[in-house]
This record gives sequence, structure tokens and C-alpha cells, in this order.
Amino acid sequence: MSDCLFCGIVEGQVKGDVVYRDESVVAFRDIRPRAPVHILIIPRKHVATIQDLEAKDQAVVGQIFLVIAKLAREQGIAERGFRVVVNSGADAGQTVFHLHFHLLGGRHFTWPPG
Ligand code: AMP
Ligand code: ZN
Repeated sequence: MSDCLFCGIVEGQVKGDVVYRDESVVAFRDIRPRAPVHILIIPRKHVATIQDLEAKDQAVVGQIFLVIAKLAREQGIAERGFRVVVNSGADAGQTVFHLHFHLLGGRHFTWPPG
């Protein structure tokens, strides 16, 4: 079994509330939601942080944004707007080191973030 939690969800060894999957991307609900809609979108391939992305990962990063747009429409948050967050590295507060995009919506967000 992988020692990466999110690889475990990709491989089905860890239970996840999966809302979308294709050949390169998986999306599942955050276990500790910070908004009415809080979904994590990840590459199937293990990449720890944005800093670890390589040129060959270009397509999956593009696909992730298309999946975010599709999920936002499906979840009814596209019209009013939503926030996409990537915590990349220690100073950003990243806790799970498998690159993930937080899709947050269904409430108003303030700026700047904490
Ligand atoms: P980050 O702080 O950006 O690394 O975000 C990690 C996110 O993963 C947090 O929002 C956690 O609530 C979420 N999380 C941790 N474990 C799980 C899990 N087993 N299933 C779904 N989400 C999780
Ligand atoms: Zn992983």
C-alpha cells in the first residue's frame, strides 16, 4: 500500500467520497469541509507540490482546471463564484504532500487569506 494518503484514495485503498475520476484526474470531497462545497482535485500521478511539476505534467494541470469548471457547474457554484486554492509547501500550510487543488464554494470568501 502506498504511504501517500491521496495515492491511497486514487488506488481505492483509502475510502474517499469520489465525485469525479478520469484517466489522469480524481476529485473527492474534503473530509473536513471549509465551505458548503469543498472538493479536492488531484492528479492520479503522485506529484508532491507545484514545485515538483515537470513539463510532461502540463496536460494534467490543464485537465484539472477543466474538471474544476465542470464540478463548479455541477455543484451550482459557477454563477456566484468560487475559490481555487493550492497550498504548495510548508509556508503555505500544505499538510498532504500530493498536489491537490481545493475547490471551495457556496459562501462568500474574504481577501486576503489568513
Ligand atoms: P492542505 O492543507 O492544502 O495540504 O490540504 C489537505 C486537505 O486534505 C485538508 O483540507 C484535509 O481536510 C484534507 N484531507 C485529509 N485527509 C483526507 C481524507 N482522508 N479524505 C479527504 N480529505 C482529506
Ligand atoms: Zn500521492
